[in-house]
Amino acid sequence: MAKCRRCGREAGYRVSYAKLWLCGEHFKEYVEERVVETVVRHGMTGGGGRVVVAVSGGVDSMSLLAITAKRRVEMGVEKIVGVHVNLGIEGYSDLAEAAVREYCGSLGVECTVLRLRDILGVGLPELASRAGRPPCSVCGLVKRYLITAYAVATGASAVFTGHHLDDAARYMLKDLYVGDFKSLAGLKPAVREPGLPVKAKPLITLGKKDIEAYAELAGVPHLEAPCPFKHSTGVEEAAEGFLKALEREHPGARLILLSSMLKLIEGYIEPVEKETYRRCSVCGMPSRSSVCSFCRLTERTLGEPMGGRVLRSLSQPV
Ligand code: SF4
Ligand code: ZN
Ligand code: ZN
Repeated sequence: MAKCRRCGREAGYRVSYAKLWLCGEHFKEYVEERVVETVVRHGMTGGGGRVVVAVSGGVDSMSLLAITAKRRVEMGVEKIVGVHVNLGIEGYSDLAEAAVREYCGSLGVECTVLRLRDILGVGLPELASRAGRPPCSVCGLVKRYLITAYAVATGASAVFTGHHLDDAARYMLKDLYVGDFKSLAGLKPAVREPGLPVKAKPLITLGKKDIEAYAELAGVPHLEAPCPFKHSTGVEEAAEGFLKALEREHPGARLILLSSMLKLIEGYIEPVEKETYRRCSVCGMPSRSSVCSFCRLTERTLGEPMGGRVLRSLSQPV
């Protein structure tokens, strides 16, 4: 039986890319240390005054919330706010909201819920159907806008999201394959854009399995049922299959891919694809075009660009 590298007791967890066996207690410690190290190394807190953690209720973001709350001081974070977007998906969103509220309460973390129906008057399924787009493509845009707008309106220095290594590696391969280099650059561990809080992925060096094992060991509650719209595109599935096979042959393959992609982004993509940021002429948020994608989406689906109104409502004390 393998022994824990840190205490010599029986080891039940293997971190394959690090060739490391650990007992449950030291596996938890290892995961938390890795997250703290990632946050510090990439300057993810943006100064750390007020950090917004985007929490969907799933295992990744709930674990991120747990670790950020537990290791806040080592990360250099003064205050944490858990922010959840209730998407208005029947049979799913209210359960997710309740799980997030309850867990934030038990950790003593301030919780803010942004309800799509209250903000836009419609839930995600209707918004997507009016836009004639798959729910996931609209969802990403809307959640990003609302959480960023909330973070800007409340003076947050950073937004933490629960993207992990498996997500990042899969999306990186997909973006490389389809040649979407701007999207690829957005997969960096910490993205800095003028006028916005740092967008950070503190779990980016941890695989999905490690996070699930951590959640079980640390008793992190989370929604078991996935969102009913969850699906992967053909390219994403193929990329995932390729990465799994590569990882079997070469443990640590995803981490190597992450590090190579970072070199590509910082050395070749960013210097060429220089972003010219301007302000959205409707809502004033930093945007790559004269009207931001949220204002364009809401104008097309609801007959009115909603960015400015949303920002004003989020600036009110909650
Ligand atoms: Fe949004 Fe799609 Fe995730 Fe559901 S599965 S929460 S619609 S991105
Ligand atoms: Zn141990
Ligand atoms: Zn706008």
